[in-house]
Amino acid sequence: MCKKMRDISKDIGNICKDLGNVSENMGSSGKGLNTAGGQGKPKLRLQNLTKRFGQEIAVENLSLTIQEGELLALVGHSGCGKTTLLRLISGLTPPDAGSIWLDGQDVTALPAGQRDIVMVFQENLLFPHLTVGENIAFGLKMTGCPQKVRIQKTRQLLELIQLPGIENKYPSQLSGGQKQRVSLARALALEPKTVLLDEPLSNLDPKLREELRDLILRLHKELQMTTVLVTHDRDEAMLMADRIAVMSYGKLLQVDTPINIYNQPRTREVASLFGPCNFLPGYLLDGEFWTENFRFTVPALKKGGRMVACIRSEHIKVTRPSQDKPTGVITEKKFLAGQSIFKVAFGNFTLLANGQDYFAYAPGNEVGLEIDWSRVYFNPEQLESGRA
Ligand code: ATP
Repeated sequence: MCKKMRDISKDIGNICKDLGNVSENMGSSGKGLNTAGGQGKPKLRLQNLTKRFGQEIAVENLSLTIQEGELLALVGHSGCGKTTLLRLISGLTPPDAGSIWLDGQDVTALPAGQRDIVMVFQENLLFPHLTVGENIAFGLKMTGCPQKVRIQKTRQLLELIQLPGIENKYPSQLSGGQKQRVSLARALALEPKTVLLDEPLSNLDPKLREELRDLILRLHKELQMTTVLVTHDRDEAMLMADRIAVMSYGKLLQVDTPINIYNQPRTREVASLFGPCNFLPGYLLDGEFWTENFRFTVPALKKGGRMVACIRSEHIKVTRPSQDKPTGVITEKKFLAGQSIFKVAFGNFTLLANGQDYFAYAPGNEVGLEIDWSRVYFNPEQLESGRA
């Protein structure tokens, strides 16, 4: 192989090949996190991973197990360490501490090109001097796949990403979204068993995003890929993931099914990432929740003491005021995605509530508040006061 090809081969090794058994992550603060990933066969296990850049800790003592065939969505604020975690898994960045296990083998010291993992980057990393077709077929060529099969497969992949007939174009002739799709096709050409996707849909318009989301899901299932998907789109995480891992400052705050993450968020940060949520502090005792200015009757729970009630806005309804209900005063109203959303001053708190009729209430109106306590999640107060 000529030097240029060796360099390219090394590049594709670094860029494309990223296989890993994703396991589960339990950091020093992760006591009680469900990071083991359920009943399946562990594919990837991250154990006490730490990565620093100078003084900055990008990933801190993080442990996580990902099961074979699982789709795990990794979400969290910008700079919380998501991409660094993917790079650690892929082997592109070495950890300062901890280990990475793939199919039960310690691959921590294994170079990226030797892990059966493919990574698709947020920024496209297509080879500029190769055509689209050559880019997609590159990994196949390196594995000795015959030209006829390469051409056929490239065509099929271009159909899949809805860009048929662009084999002979160069990356510089494509839009950002088109490059992103070609990057995805290049990664999928190798039919990887483990794939790491760093915001693969971020440059696409909503319709295409939806179509490619379905495509990724279909391929994930058909190829039984173990997939880690980084996304800033909460709906994408909710719709696609078997489990969602929420990261903050290099640690995992919560790892759970989408429904549990939504209904039982362990912290305010987790709750707020997935939609409007009210946090009402009070004291829970014997089927009652004592707040600053009202005593609510709630389902009797085993836990008690100082709690913060996490109440999704759709579980508080504004109604006509009546004597048996707590009342508040509307300060603002909005109409969003078919919902009427009201801001209501309730003592020293402002609650977000839903109402059936946008026109029935206006700012300054006194309203009653109906809370569906069966849908409310209580967190001990200390969990809410800082990072978990
Ligand atoms: P985003 O959602 O904005 O892409 P992220 O969650 O993927 O962010 P990372 O890119 O993993 O975050 O970065 C985590 C932290 O590590 C950030 O503070 C970032 O500045 C820092 N960092 C990442 N890579 C490097 C690097 N090569 N050199 C120095 N600091 C880095």
